[in-house]
Amino acid sequence: MVVDPLSRYQARREQLARGGFPKDGTLELIGEVLRRGERLGREGVDQALRALGSAEIDAWLRAQSAETLRPALLRAAEESAEAALGEDVEESEVWRASSLEGLAARDRAESALRAIAAWESLHGAVSGALAERLNTVREAFGRLDGALAPKARWFIPLNSQRRAERDLLDAGERPRAWWFSARAECDDFLAVLHSRGERPGTHLRACPDCLRDMDQSVLVDAPPKRHLSAEDLWRFDMGTLSAAELKWVDGHTEKCLECAQAIWALEEGDEAIDRALAEQERAVPAARTSRAAEPSRRGPTSARHAEQRDVLEERRDFRVVLVRERQRARLLVQPLGSRAVTAAVFLTPGKPSLKPHSGPEGLQFDLGTAGGRSAHLMVRVGNNEIFERDFSF
Ligand SMILES: [Zn+2]
Ligand SMILES: [Zn+2]
Repeated sequence: MVVDPLSRYQARREQLARGGFPKDGTLELIGEVLRRGERLGREGVDQALRALGSAEIDAWLRAQSAETLRPALLRAAEESAEAALGEDVEESEVWRASSLEGLAARDRAESALRAIAAWESLHGAVSGALAERLNTVREAFGRLDGALAPKARWFIPLNSQRRAERDLLDAGERPRAWWFSARAECDDFLAVLHSRGERPGTHLRACPDCLRDMDQSVLVDAPPKRHLSAEDLWRFDMGTLSAAELKWVDGHTEKCLECAQAIWALEEGDEAIDRALAEQERAVPAARTSRAAEPSRRGPTSARHAEQRDVLEERRDFRVVLVRERQRARLLVQPLGSRAVTAAVFLTPGKPSLKPHSGPEGLQFDLGTAGGRSAHLMVRVGNNEIFERDFSF
């Protein structure tokens, strides 16, 4: 099971006190401890801030994108709704853990920004291009919070975990941290959302937020329904969904025609490939001979691995591989060293990036149908290197 948050942060504080700063995420580590100093103490914080140069701040700022955090939080809201509806405990846990990860990402960004403010009070305010960049990032997070904080009721299903996180924050930090604190006491509102028709309890009659929501009949504005994403379909096809996720897919496709059709399309694709292979065998007898050498590999499973791979980029820390398989393309970003590699793919300028799935081969992006399309790739190595390029598939 999950380590309780207090032990996790204590371990992080000890890491900081030992002076063992991680190569990446030093800002986040400092800020995490700073924002929880009342519970954890602030040992090691000043020392770490003194050792930090403005280049590390610049690198963190360059790597930030509210564009990637916004879809992550919207997805977290969908998953939170699934956690509330989940019929069995295991299934709900899958969604709850995934949803909390979205909230934790917002919290880590807050920690880094807090560390930057503390750094400035020690070394003096940043200036020039760095100050501009800091301002841009702060504004982007301001807009993100402005849009999502009023939707905090979507995260009510995670309230017990959110309260645990909120209570570890310094009192002065809690109001800002809406992802953990807003609506954290509104558990009773779930009964309204699911129209269980119980008589409103004392909380619902006294809480201004809940009263406003009921007044404005936000029931229409229910949490978004989680549908199968491209990533879900990809993992379904590859057979890497967990038992709990498969169960959810089964349950969901029983009720949702759209997602059921997406699954059928995958299965039809397999059959079409089998038919094409069978015809090829009739036409080219030689193919039959070579295939006969490995009879156990015959079948749809071997057919679906007929794929073409092109290495688009090879660097010290990562390799980018474009994989074409059937009519579909996917991009693999494979870390080669020990440094953390993250990546984002943009299919349309200004639209949210594709969410990667981390698999045995590295980060995978399902690009959809191949043929005459192009996309933009961003790879971040550690905290301070960004690599960008366009590619077509
Ligand atoms: Zn309430
Ligand atoms: Zn659906």
